[in-house]
Parts: sequence; C-alpha cells; structure tokens
Amino acid sequence: MCGILGIIGQNCEASKLAYFGLYAQQHRGQESAGIAVVAEKGEIHYHKGMGLVSQVFNENIIRGLPGNLAVGHVRYSTTGASQIKNAQPVLVELPDGALLLAHNGNLVNTLELRGELESAGVAWRMSSDTEIIGCLIAKYYNGDLADTLVRVAPKLQGAFSLVLMTRDKILGLRDPHGIRPLCLGQLPDKSGFVLASESCALDILGAKLLREVDKGSLVILEKDRVRSLVYDGTKPGALCVFEYIYFARPDSYIEGHNVYKVREKMGKLLFQEHPADADIVIPVPDSGIPAAVGFARASGIPYEEGLIKNRYVGRTFINPSQVMREIGVRLKLNPLREVLAGKRVVILDDSIVRGTTSAKLVRLLRDSGAREVHFRVSAPPSISPCYYGIDTPVKSQLIAANNSAAEICRKLGADTLGYLSIEAVHEAIAASADGSNGKCFCQGCFDGVYPAGIPSGEELGLVYKER
Ligand code: SF4
Repeated sequence: MCGILGIIGQNCEASKLAYFGLYAQQHRGQESAGIAVVAEKGEIHYHKGMGLVSQVFNENIIRGLPGNLAVGHVRYSTTGASQIKNAQPVLVELPDGALLLAHNGNLVNTLELRGELESAGVAWRMSSDTEIIGCLIAKYYNGDLADTLVRVAPKLQGAFSLVLMTRDKILGLRDPHGIRPLCLGQLPDKSGFVLASESCALDILGAKLLREVDKGSLVILEKDRVRSLVYDGTKPGALCVFEYIYFARPDSYIEGHNVYKVREKMGKLLFQEHPADADIVIPVPDSGIPAAVGFARASGIPYEEGLIKNRYVGRTFINPSQVMREIGVRLKLNPLREVLAGKRVVILDDSIVRGTTSAKLVRLLRDSGAREVHFRVSAPPSISPCYYGIDTPVKSQLIAANNSAAEICRKLGADTLGYLSIEAVHEAIAASADGSNGKCFCQGCFDGVYPAGIPSGEELGLVYKER
C-alpha cells in the first residue's frame, strides 16, 4: 500500500509536518518510514529506518532535518523485501542536483525496465521498483524535470502515485488509471501546499483538501502556486476499490466520498442482500466497524463490541510473514464473553483472504459462548491477487478462488456466510463520478480484470522468491 507525502511551505518546519502527516498515514505501511528535506542552502538531509514512524523518528532527528520542503514515505512491501535498503524516499542523482522520490503502487513491467537499464550499465542498490523509476528519470533527464517525467511516465506500466522533491519544488505524478490515491491540500493561511495519499494526513496539518491529483497528470507545487498538466487523459479511471472497502482510513475523503459513510452504506446493503436473524451485530475491529454500524442500523439488531482489539499491534494482513500473521491474530483480538455468551452473533469483516483468520475468529466466538455465528463480509469474494501494490497471496491461497461460499462457510465453521455483491459496492460508493457505474474502479481482486496489465510469469516468480 504505502503512504506518501510532500510539503512545500514558508517557515513551516516541513519535517515536523511530514512527521505528523506520515503518522496519520501509518495504517498504509508499518515496515519502514523516511523523511527527506531541503535545507536553506539547498542541501538535502534525510533519515530512514525500519519500523513505525514513532520508532524511526524522535525530536532530535526531526530537529536535524531543517527546511521548508519535505517528502515522506511509510512502506509496506510488495516488490522488494522488507529491508532498510528498500526504505524510501529514494535519492536520485541528477546532473544539476538531487531528487528525492516516494512511491505508492507497483509496476508490472519491471523486468523489461530492468533489462533496459542494465544494458545502459545501471548497478542496483535496492530491489524495489521505485529504484527503477528513479533510474529511468536519471537516464532520460534533459534538464527539465516536468518534461522528463512526462516522457518517463508512459514507460511505466502498473500503479504509481509518486511524490518527488527537488531543491525548490514538490511534484506529484499519478498513473493514467489513477489506481492509487493522491490528493492535494493547502496549508493553513495559504502558506504552502501538501500532497498526500489520503486526506486524513491533511486534517492533522490543518490543511484544506483542494482536490485529487487527476489520473494521468503531473502537478508541480511551488511556494505560492500549483501547476498541473495531463500527460495521458485517454485511459479510463480505475481507482482501487479496496481503498473504500479496507485500506483507507474512515475519516479520509476519496473523490468526494467519505470512507466511513461508504462503509456504513455497505453494511446497510449487506443486510438487504444477506439478512440474519440474530441478537447482536459485532465488528472485526477496526476496519469492520462502519459496516457493522450500517448492518445494525438497517436490521435493528443491537450493535455491540464483542472483540476487543489491542490497538498497539499492527494489521495482521500487513505483516509480511506467515509466522507473524499467526501470532498477530492471537495478540490482536480478545473476545468479550460477557457480550457473546448465549447470543446469536452477526460478525462483520471487510474481507476473507486465506480464511485462516476468519476461522480462528469464529472459533473464538464459539469458545466464548456464542450460540450462532453469522459471518458477513462487506466486499465480494477475493478471487484473484493484486498486482498493483497490495501484498495479497497467490491465487492458490485465496480461499474464495478455490471454494464456493457454502464450502467457505463450512471451513470457517460459521452458521451462515454472506458476501456483498460488487453492484452493492458500487452503489455504496455512490458509483462513479463519471456515471459509468463501476467502470472507474480497479476491482481486479474480485473479477480478475486488471486495467493496467499484469506481470509476466518470470517477473512474478522473482517477486515471490524475494518475499
Ligand atoms: S487488484 Fe484489488 S487490491 Fe489491487 S488495485 Fe485492484 S481492486 Fe485494489
């Protein structure tokens, strides 16, 4: 997933703002964090490390990053292992100065691009696709960064939202389908601008959300103005629909839709599609909460908290290793026997991936005295992997790719199981701004259709080997 951020202001302690902006986007990546700044005389300073933003940075480190421009990144790995060498922002040496680059997304033609760069003598320092983007920018640089980016962007296939920093500018670049989000805001008192993956990062800075960065476009932020240019306006929009379902923070706005309200509506529609006769509705916290609220409102069944989350443990889905995932479930959720005992329970979650976590949850609820367990998912069955920046398992490990809903229900040990239809997902998002109902989303993990292509078999093999 990854969270990215760029800030340009006046007397604004950009590194401090970047710290808080990344902190607000911590849910998008918990493996590494980094901030780079441009100091007064144009020198670049940066600091990166493994772990959470609060683990990587402290007051002293932030004080050692002075300047009015900053770019930041929180990482969750897809291409490239979870190692410090792959932490971002990435430094790119250009003939007339340095460029810092932060990337959210995943390219699907890295083998081809690597081949091109290797023939030009490039030696790799990292193993992520972000370095490839940096090397391409360096290779094609013609003294005009905006022009170079517009030439390089069509070579990149897949998902990319980029924030770049030069000595005096912040730039944002979004792929032609707009698969990963990127929004533009204005700092308080019109003192500068900010780019961020999600609007919740603007809120914490007191910044005003101006708009999304358009798909297929480049924005150039200077102290007092923003310029935009569209480099490819021909492709249909394909924002990742999972941003609404799971990834984005509920207090974020994407394309004018509040994520919490979308999820609540998903819960309401889920009740219409898969009603249940039950005593209580409980969420899998935190991401299942809005849909559970919606389901409870629509059904009239009381909403309760039946699982208490240890909020200091990361998302189990994000942890890269299976061992961590197994431990994570037990660390993270504790059932409330007083709420559950003797009850017919509807449990709301936003997805079932492998099914192992969901089966454990059903067992936890039954062990805590739940009389019936009705599993409801506020998304369609996940039948296909993501190639655009989400670390989903291969198809053979996706329970819905290989089992019917009835078989999954049996494997989970639930009494009933219901998934939200893709039509209801579209309805909940109030469908597309352009009226093409669903055509403006990537929903590859639900229908196996990938708007920006998929990697070759050889490329995929290398990615999984490194993971
Ligand atoms: S494949 Fe799924 S998770 Fe990946 S970008 Fe498309 S909708 Fe999002």
